[in-house]
Amino acid sequence: SLPVVAIVGRPNVGKSTLVNRVLGRREAVVQDEPGVTRDRVSYPAEWNGVPFMVIDTGGWEIDARGIARHVAQQAEVAVEMADVIVFVVDATVGATDADEDVVKLLRRSGKPVVLVANKVDDVHVEGEAAALWSMGLGQPFAVSALHGKGSGDLLDEILANF
Ligand code: GDP
Ligand code: MG
Repeated sequence: SLPVVAIVGRPNVGKSTLVNRVLGRREAVVQDEPGVTRDRVSYPAEWNGVPFMVIDTGGWEIDARGIARHVAQQAEVAVEMADVIVFVVDATVGATDADEDVVKLLRRSGKPVVLVANKVDDVHVEGEAAALWSMGLGQPFAVSALHGKGSGDLLDEILANF
């Protein structure tokens, strides 16, 4: 079966936008309202001739309640299914306490984690992206999912972990 890449992170960090960038088409639902991706959704993808599955998740809030809790459980299932986890942080916001809690859970999963600093649309945000080294997940890959910047290097890194 194909390698599975799960995209996780808090609502509104740009997970679905990144999935669309990886797919090269607008299939995952992007919304300005947080928490729109209610369930995990998997899509067939390919990079440099290597096929894989990419799972979009609704965002992972540790203290989630109600519908948000449901979404969080979907994300946990996605992590269990995944061969590589792509953890997305909004570089313009930085790492939050909730992100730190997720990092602990991801470490416990024992799966390879690739850290994405998203919304690095221009050089003014590159310092914020570099600050995410402090999360202890290795190199933050600075990406603008919206404009496509950095997505090639990110995909190379994801495939290196298959
Ligand atoms: P999700 O909740 O994590 O799936 O986030 P979405 O993909 O739905 O995006 C949430 C919002 O962030 C939308 O308004 C996107 O257009 C915006 N967004 C996503 N990626 C970027 C980016 O690289 N740069 C900027 N400026 N906005 C982005
Ligand atoms: Mg989404």
